[in-house]
Amino acid sequence: METIFTKIINGDIPSYKIAENEKFYAFLDINPNAKGHTLVIPKTPVDKLFDLDEATYSALFSYARKISFAIEKVVPCNRIGLSVIGLEVPHAHIHLIPLNSMQDASFSAPKTKMTHEEFVALAEEIAENVI
Ligand code: AMP
Repeated sequence: METIFTKIINGDIPSYKIAENEKFYAFLDINPNAKGHTLVIPKTPVDKLFDLDEATYSALFSYARKISFAIEKVVPCNRIGLSVIGLEVPHAHIHLIPLNSMQDASFSAPKTKMTHEEFVALAEEIAENVI
């Protein structure tokens, strides 16, 4: 099934990309809980995370771990939190969220506003720190 995330992977709509390889793609969430809120997705268009084949599922978490280290280097925070929701976009994804308070983990709390320039600069800085 084609979702907005498939279009992002294919470059049909823009994203604030952090990193990709042949299987996964990481980019900033456009409506972040906190600065540095990142989505990590498999390129395979599977809706539910737990429906991924086991190898892809495990490799997605390894890839997210790698991205979390880069976010943590760049964004001042207590730690990087991980959430799986999927109620809005039916394409499996992991939310990586820099946490300073419980509020940052809440998807019903007010979102963080960022300008296009801030998104671009932050994505670039995190991307530079992906090893
Ligand atoms: P959920 O499916 O409930 O896990 O939420 C989907 C997440 O994707 C939300 O946090 C949205 O802000 C985010 N999102 C939706 N469209 C885009 C987009 N075009 N670029 C970046 N993030 C997006």
